[in-house]
Amino acid sequence: MKQVQLYDTTLRDGAQQEGISFSVEDKLKIVRKLDELGINFIEGGWPGSNPKDEEFFARAQHLQLSQAVLCAFGSTRRPHTAAGKDPNLRALVKAKTPVVTLVGKSSELQVTRVLETTLEENLAMIRDSVSFLKSKGRIVFFDAEHFFDGCKANAEYALLTIRTADEAGADCVILCDTNGGTLPYDVAAMVEMAAKEVNSPLGIHAHNDADLAVACSLMAVRAGAVQLQGTINGYGERCGNANICSVIPALKLKMNIACISDEQLAKLTEVSHYVNELANLSTVARQPYVGGSAFTHKGGMHVSAMTKWDKSYQHIDPELVGNRSGVLVSELSGVSSIVYKAKERGLVLSRGEEARRILEQIKLMESRGFQYEDAEASFDLLVYRARSDYRPPFDLVDFMVMVEKRRRPSAGGEEILAEAMVKVRVGDQVVHTASEGNGPIDALDKALRKGLIEFYPDLALVRLADYKVRILDESAGTEAQVRVLIECTDGTHGWTTVGSSTNIIEASWLALADSLEYWLLRAAKSY
Ligand SMILES: [Zn+2]
Repeated sequence: MKQVQLYDTTLRDGAQQEGISFSVEDKLKIVRKLDELGINFIEGGWPGSNPKDEEFFARAQHLQLSQAVLCAFGSTRRPHTAAGKDPNLRALVKAKTPVVTLVGKSSELQVTRVLETTLEENLAMIRDSVSFLKSKGRIVFFDAEHFFDGCKANAEYALLTIRTADEAGADCVILCDTNGGTLPYDVAAMVEMAAKEVNSPLGIHAHNDADLAVACSLMAVRAGAVQLQGTINGYGERCGNANICSVIPALKLKMNIACISDEQLAKLTEVSHYVNELANLSTVARQPYVGGSAFTHKGGMHVSAMTKWDKSYQHIDPELVGNRSGVLVSELSGVSSIVYKAKERGLVLSRGEEARRILEQIKLMESRGFQYEDAEASFDLLVYRARSDYRPPFDLVDFMVMVEKRRRPSAGGEEILAEAMVKVRVGDQVVHTASEGNGPIDALDKALRKGLIEFYPDLALVRLADYKVRILDESAGTEAQVRVLIECTDGTHGWTTVGSSTNIIEASWLALADSLEYWLLRAAKSY
């Protein structure tokens, strides 16, 4: 079985994405996670470029990694200097990593126009820098920057640069599609051409500017590359790098190439989300393999087929990459979706009359602005409420909210005060409570809980985690329908409910009441 080595550059190329800034602590955590995932080489940064990367390498030496090897990144020596005196190369040696990845120019135009030196001097820079690092006992990977574009313009010179690195002792030559504009079949042809030129193994480093980085990487592997460079979730400057979260399952599951183990592959979704969390980025639902929607079905016909055969609308078994199948219920759903969803939520529901009634109810509610795709707790309540013997834990009788703006010079100016009065029925008792809050929703929430907590003391555990408001028809101005999504937590589990109305307070009230009712029905019993 063919083997490919995975090289991750999330911490260097990936960190160049707009808005990403990893602390040294984050970087160390990510290294540990990538090691668990089975990545062979982890590029930690550019030690010559900033103090943060220097600190990282100083601390990373002490990490106990199970198999991953740390790499430091830097460029060839400056023109007309001695390699041993070049500050960048010295910083690379000082980083004490077993591997150094050295970037050098492979394109004639980049040498003459950007580096502003001669073609001969560029070759000398490559030769001297590789030899210097080899003399210091390092494994040297040579990143041939702009190789593919260079090859298109002057193939002879591009090939000469990689031959020079190879002859100077590079342990692997990585062909880079630095501008990300090369087509996959051109990548394959040029990898084959490069393979005839050098003895050392080849790698691929592709950028995603033409949305082809994963495709180019796989074609390069097919053409003979044995090292694949990428980043978690495809982070990187401009349009990003090859997404290693897409590359790995393609290599393993579709190309039958050995890289990480089955157990490690099953962690892929978790690792993708973990790194997003540290990068302070939200997970992209539509991300292939690991996204929340990657195996989620919505169309009625698709869901119906999925209940009969789980491969009918999925290219792989989602569990192989640690993801799962799901169903979205919406007005586009059929009875099968409702039954499938109920089963997924652990509720018993037959395909007959009951499911049809729930579907009709969903269609009616969606026409009024509700949406159940993201509000699974409200979906559960629909199922409960469709049962003839259902008795809710409480009934809302009515509420009143007052909002006041007061001038209070003593408190430093003005303040907004809200007060809510709530009437709620539990069994045959009607409770009447009032509470103040920093806004109308807060006041309602507090008044409702105050009434219910006498009967259900455990409700004290539940708190509001997130509150989202969406205007559904902006052209209707202040009369527009408003949808409110409320996320609550009891410290262990989270759930989301929905409310909709032309009045934001009523929409919030409906979502709030659903949230507490859901917890009393399901969570409180089963946890
Ligand atoms: Zn790059």
